[in-house]
Amino acid sequence: MKVAVIGLGNMGAPMAANLVKAGHQVAGFDLVAPCPAGVTCATSAAAAATGADVVITMLPNGAILRAVAAEVIPAMHPGAVLCDCSTVDVESARAVAAQATAAGLGALDAPVSGGVGGATAGTLTFMAGGSEEAFATVKPLFEVMGQKAVHCGGAGAGQAAKICNNMILGVTMIATCEAFALADKLGLERQKMFDVVSTSSGYSWTMNAYCPAPGIGPKSPADNGYKPGFAAELMLKDLRLSQQAAEAADADTPMGKLAAALYTSFVEQEGGRGMDFSAMLPRFEARGRG
Ligand code: NAD
Repeated sequence: MKVAVIGLGNMGAPMAANLVKAGHQVAGFDLVAPCPAGVTCATSAAAAATGADVVITMLPNGAILRAVAAEVIPAMHPGAVLCDCSTVDVESARAVAAQATAAGLGALDAPVSGGVGGATAGTLTFMAGGSEEAFATVKPLFEVMGQKAVHCGGAGAGQAAKICNNMILGVTMIATCEAFALADKLGLERQKMFDVVSTSSGYSWTMNAYCPAPGIGPKSPADNGYKPGFAAELMLKDLRLSQQAAEAADADTPMGKLAAALYTSFVEQEGGRGMDFSAMLPRFEARGRG
């Protein structure tokens, strides 16, 4: 297939590289990042998109996505698919999809989970919103870049799945960390805490697979000085998107709201920027109640 990848940062570059490895013809564009080997570097987003069957965008936020979409949609040929893999607000995803559809294009919002490791290894999970036809067109590319692609529903459903998942993740990580810090103060050994909780009703992915306590459970960023992994500021971005969506939809999300507030102070005032999101544990350890 002829594919364009716009946004060649930490995620977009390895995704484009995997498409090249699988034999696709890939044009790329980024304002600053270089093109990976095998990707034909275009001079603009529109130039990269011209002639492409699928245009993949992997950009920082919804405002940038809207600007790039306005540029590439007129350059794309009817029947081509605009597939945004960035994590953005549901409203931007739906606005861009409407614009693409009106221009006779297919459109998907297909954010990912799996991080830079998954993008490099080609093991991402894609959660997609959009039409059956658009999903079917892009599916062979999802199979190259990832290990699983779920068609979640119409436009915006992929972003909805992503922010709901990550709201659960943020809330659960905080609950796991505060429970470890409480256990410490009660004189309970961390290994015993893990042995009980990981096989009891408090178990979760954050406890069992990504334990925030160093030296406990399978290897995780806690065992590597809390280097990300999944950075606290990216968790904050996703929690903010969940609260923006909850506002717009009039949904009551008190735990998500509190998680967003805790990650805001962690990232902006408590040294959390650049740390893994599980570094909430040393934050709780260092604090008392007041
Ligand atoms: P990044 O900042 O490394 O890459 C974004 C790239 O977009 C940059 O290279 C930037 O120069 C480029 N860009 C910005 N404006 C542009 C424009 N107008 N035209 C062309 N290029 C432009 O970010 P990333 O880590 O690759 O993340 C990309 C997206 O994926 C984000 O939405 C993020 O939330 C999401 N995501 C990231 C991870 C992760 O672990 N990094 C995991 C899941 C989802």
